[in-house]
Amino acid sequence: MLYQSTRSRHTVNSLQAILEGIAPDGGLYLPVDLDSLNVDVARVADKSFEETAAVILRTLFDEFTEEEMADMVRRAYRGKFETEDCTPTVKVGGDYVLELFRGPTSAFKDVALSMLPVLITEAKKKLGITEKILILTATSGDTGKAALEGFHDVEGTGIIVFYPNGGVSAVQKAQMVTQEGNNVTVCAIEGNFDDAQTGVKNTFAACAKKDLTQYGVRLSSANSINIGRLAPQIVYYYKSYCDLVAAGEIKMGDKINFVVPTGNFGDILAGYFAKCLGLPVNKLVCASNQNDVLTEFLNTGRYDRRREFYRTNSPSMDILVSSNLERMLYLAAKGDCDKIAGYMKALNEEGEYTVDADLLASLQDTFFAGCCSEEKTLQTIRDTYVTYGYLCDTHTAVAVAVAKDFKATEAEGKTVILSTASPYKFPVSVLSAIGKEPDADEFRVMEQLNEATQVPVPEGLAGLKEKKVLHTDVIPKDAILDYVLKKVEA
Ligand SMILES: *Cc1c(COP(=O)(O)O)cnc(C)c1O
Repeated sequence: MLYQSTRSRHTVNSLQAILEGIAPDGGLYLPVDLDSLNVDVARVADKSFEETAAVILRTLFDEFTEEEMADMVRRAYRGKFETEDCTPTVKVGGDYVLELFRGPTSAFKDVALSMLPVLITEAKKKLGITEKILILTATSGDTGKAALEGFHDVEGTGIIVFYPNGGVSAVQKAQMVTQEGNNVTVCAIEGNFDDAQTGVKNTFAACAKKDLTQYGVRLSSANSINIGRLAPQIVYYYKSYCDLVAAGEIKMGDKINFVVPTGNFGDILAGYFAKCLGLPVNKLVCASNQNDVLTEFLNTGRYDRRREFYRTNSPSMDILVSSNLERMLYLAAKGDCDKIAGYMKALNEEGEYTVDADLLASLQDTFFAGCCSEEKTLQTIRDTYVTYGYLCDTHTAVAVAVAKDFKATEAEGKTVILSTASPYKFPVSVLSAIGKEPDADEFRVMEQLNEATQVPVPEGLAGLKEKKVLHTDVIPKDAILDYVLKKVEA
């Protein structure tokens, strides 16, 4: 299958798209003919999570045989999630919650980052590439740990994660600095997340000019610009739909809505892919926190990143430039890559762009957008807990609140809310939301939350405090390139 950049006519096959991550022109890869692809939901109705994943991933990456993909999916998921079906859907009030946090690091990024290392290593084999793939990642918390968990001890790969010193929660830090594995490096930088991200981007640019293959290394990325990370996320939209059919909540063919707590627009874009592949979807609801750049854009057509950046209680959605929106614009503009390149140039140089009326109308056909304040997020956690006995994290709460606004405007179809993190990943906010005073020690807060709610602490988070710290490097923010080169040359 061919993949094309969003910014030019540059095309590659799916194996190259997975390995490269980003196109040489700075664009993102998309299947050349997404509209012609189809996965009939009836075909996967009785299948397991793994079987559904194999069908969907092979549709997008058809260089792999059915047998190969079935084996890859098994290696990625078997025995790694709390529940065998990986992403259960539960009924909460009149809606449904799709729990995506049952993986090893208790965040939804596990679903994709369990699969990506397998896709990368197998793509590498098929292309006859022998160099080691070195993954560089800047993280504000969740991605780093999920990527470490996915790539540790995967042969032929290495991973370096940079996180802002003092910029992640105690639990998130402990998750990363205790990571075991013979191919992993975790390093704090003296700076914020943007400094880490800029340092990593500059390192990619600088290394593109040097030939790292002389050291037997190629660099790649594990964030959601990589199509190999996006594709596995399509699976749970199908799975959740089929679960509702099996439970008798909907009939096969009924259209339903999905509400998605959104940051980089990766998760919700996977929902759009599912719709393109034929899943009966009415609306995809884009839920933002106080950083409401996407709400404004989807309601007005104007994207303006020149605004105040808020640190919120749903930090994994604190983002002003949503990278994957570029893919959505390309699809809505029917592949007009010059137009997209123009918008992205304007965003870079002037900090804003406005899409034309047709494009906006086509986006609004599919998407509803809303946002939620800090206070309302906590209020929603409390209300959901008190009314339904369901404990949700801050990111999920944003989606629950926006779902309510959405349903006030549109009644058609049942609504599934995507839950992207365990409440134990953000215990301080969640415990305060239900009216309890959190201790100063975040690990103690997890116990407090457990005592107050009896909701079990996920295995990967319990016992974290006792684990040995293995990574202690701290470097200045402008030393990332040197740090990477030293590792490469070693
Ligand atoms: C990354 C993340 C999100 C946002 O997902 P995008 O694909 O970036 O839109 C939402 N919630 C949590 C908990 C996350 O870690």
